[in-house]
Amino acid sequence: MLQNNMERLLVSSEPKADESLIGYVLRLTERNGYETPLWILEMVSPNYKDPHRAYALAFGPQEDVDKLARVIGIGRAKLACLTYPRVNHSDGVALHSYQGQAIPQHTIRQGYPKICPDCLSEASYCRRIWELSFITICLKHERLLIDECPSCNKRISLFRKHVGTCSCQFHWRDSPALPVKEPELRLAKYVYQLCGLLADENDSQELFPALQKLTLNDLLLALFFIAGQHRGISSATSKHLVSIGRNKDFHGTLIKAHTVFENWPNNYFRFLDERRIQERKATGNYPRMKSALYGEFGSFYSGLHGVLSGSQFDFMRGAFIDYITQKRIGDRRSSLRPQKLIRDSPDGPYVLKSDVRRLLGVDYGWINHRIRAGEVKFLVRNKGKKRLIFVDLINITKLKLAQNPC
Ligand SMILES: [Zn+2]
Ligand SMILES: [Zn+2]
Repeated sequence: MLQNNMERLLVSSEPKADESLIGYVLRLTERNGYETPLWILEMVSPNYKDPHRAYALAFGPQEDVDKLARVIGIGRAKLACLTYPRVNHSDGVALHSYQGQAIPQHTIRQGYPKICPDCLSEASYCRRIWELSFITICLKHERLLIDECPSCNKRISLFRKHVGTCSCQFHWRDSPALPVKEPELRLAKYVYQLCGLLADENDSQELFPALQKLTLNDLLLALFFIAGQHRGISSATSKHLVSIGRNKDFHGTLIKAHTVFENWPNNYFRFLDERRIQERKATGNYPRMKSALYGEFGSFYSGLHGVLSGSQFDFMRGAFIDYITQKRIGDRRSSLRPQKLIRDSPDGPYVLKSDVRRLLGVDYGWINHRIRAGEVKFLVRNKGKKRLIFVDLINITKLKLAQNPC
């Protein structure tokens, strides 16, 4: 029964260093014989009656964290270690600190709890790392985390009575193992390593070097972007794809996205092949209004100079240029004769001046200067009343690289 006027919990306990804040409240719920963690949260503020508000506590509103510390009867500092303080903003995405790494708020998913049955069997408390959407496995036990009860198939709720037992009375420690092997472990190992959580140094993982130069936030941006492309959704919405489906599905999505960056650039090229087929199916035979590259790659192309416009993703743009050069994907729409001319040209592919600007991150002034100086090959085509300028992509890429080599 809820004791409204009770200021302090009868039974308290110290939080573990790697425990989730809400998970800690759940453990205290169990120890005090309460029905749900909401009872303790309501003692902090009636606002927390709404479960959605309860998640906000882990982002560290000082007043509420202080109050919770008083309710539990421990020092505030011990609780503050379990929060994800806000550190920054990046392109409209709030970033929060986890183990010294800035991660996007949308990857902290307390509302969709996951557990490792073996970890719970060893010590019955919820690990903070399970709250991160991109952690889909337990590295220690090399198994998938579970987010649904294997007995009643219901999604595990955060607002439950016990840490390790379902409302159907099933002990999750008895869940059948869903083992994962290399290469599925690689990405998680690397993330653990970045966060200083790798127990065994021999386990340290190296990713493809350009990927390894990225911050965790940028690595997630690239992975979520590719994952969104696989699922046919735009970069603007791809960050929300974790809310679709269960952990095991998201695990597959994430591993598939990471594979694109392995065996560089071969897997990436294969991904681009598939992406073109996908785009062709989506748009049929209707010509796109924009450049041929939009027509061929759709939202992948717009993302490449949109959400991935930072110079840290130049390696993706560079390999994309290599791909379209190899496949000779240029603009062939301007008229019948030029189509032949461009295709048969020993140079090229020729792409629109606006595409050169996007792909190389240069401005029109720079391109015009190269054209006027006679340094690049170009073609002029008329489209209605418009004059379109196509530039030899290989030629101008070489000039750009000579100017500032990678
Ligand atoms: Zn485990
Ligand atoms: Zn159950």
